[in-house]
Amino acid sequence: MHKYLEEAQAMLPHLQEMQQQIHHFGGVGYDLRPSADLILKELADLGIEAREIIDCGIVATIGKKDGPTVLLRADYDALPQEEITGLPYAATNGSCHSCGHDHHAAMLLGTARLLKAHEDELEGHVKLMFQPDEEATTGCKRMIAAGVLDDPKVDASFAIHIEAGSDRDNVGKVIWAQGPTYSAADRFEIRVRGNGGHGSQPHKTIDPITALCNAITTAQHIISMEVPAAERAVITIGQIQGGTTVNIIPNEAMAGGTIRTYSNEMRAFCRDRLIEICQLTCKALRCECEVWISPDGVPPVVNDIDLAIEIHPWIEEICGDNLYTAAEPLSFGSEDYAWISERVPSVIMTLGAGRPEEGYIHGAHNPAIHFDAGCMPYGVATFTNLCVQYLKAHK
Ligand SMILES: [Zn+2]
Ligand SMILES: [Zn+2]
Repeated sequence: MHKYLEEAQAMLPHLQEMQQQIHHFGGVGYDLRPSADLILKELADLGIEAREIIDCGIVATIGKKDGPTVLLRADYDALPQEEITGLPYAATNGSCHSCGHDHHAAMLLGTARLLKAHEDELEGHVKLMFQPDEEATTGCKRMIAAGVLDDPKVDASFAIHIEAGSDRDNVGKVIWAQGPTYSAADRFEIRVRGNGGHGSQPHKTIDPITALCNAITTAQHIISMEVPAAERAVITIGQIQGGTTVNIIPNEAMAGGTIRTYSNEMRAFCRDRLIEICQLTCKALRCECEVWISPDGVPPVVNDIDLAIEIHPWIEEICGDNLYTAAEPLSFGSEDYAWISERVPSVIMTLGAGRPEEGYIHGAHNPAIHFDAGCMPYGVATFTNLCVQYLKAHK
């Protein structure tokens, strides 16, 4: 067993203690004060100076020698839902760590401890980033604006997301993609205005419902006929509203949905074509149409291919053959780590934390989810080895 993994395994009770406390604190968005205080205290106890650069956004740097800087990112916000895990340390404030971010923070604190113990082996600096509000995708952007990637300037970055509930989630298995990893996510709303009237006399009205239905049906033409088969893209309408009863044609109707894409080119193409198709279809049916695309959309997370290939042996040293890497995305979900991967060579990986046959039957965002805490030492040792080896290779 690799020495970092051995040391991380010995740390498991402490990792669990921190993870369970952060889990119990819960908290959504930037409302993470008890967890932020725990993180600040642990870093202070380790003799690591930390700064809070935005509300609950904490940065700390380790390393005594000149050289490149690696950033490790952990988010630590929970979701706004009632926890139903039945765990003794369950949150009781209407929030739930159903995305496993409590483990992310504990793993990064464990990594801080291990890196501090091996500080002489670091040929440069490691910056630790504890991020609020990943779920509403504003935390990472705000920490970048507050300078998390500067002073010292970050040369490369890594992040780990744990997952459970599927057959690939062997405890400690590290999976990463070479290239596109998580999709861009863009919320949109389509509002169609007509001129309502009596349901028996549609010829005296301009019907927004028929126009809207035509527009959203035609929008799927983008996916079936315009996006190349080798690309991946999704346009989903998850919401539709219009009318109050069966015999009135309303003045307005609306639909809302999400676009998922894996490149900035495809992202712009799908957005532009959605707007064009909706407006022209509605115009043909004598309606007015407005398409609103949220300015808070997230770009795709794209792992740096060279870095994703370079790190393979460093992960293997920790995990043996309990790993998987290939040129395919991990998920159609989105991750606000995208803002970092857009700016510096980055790799985000998933860490297995329990398969269904071991009783871990729930997936992310399910309020009954629980994870195998035994995954955490693998995260700690992987993070540590990535930093030590990257800094050595790039000094
Ligand atoms: Zn999540
Ligand atoms: Zn998450």
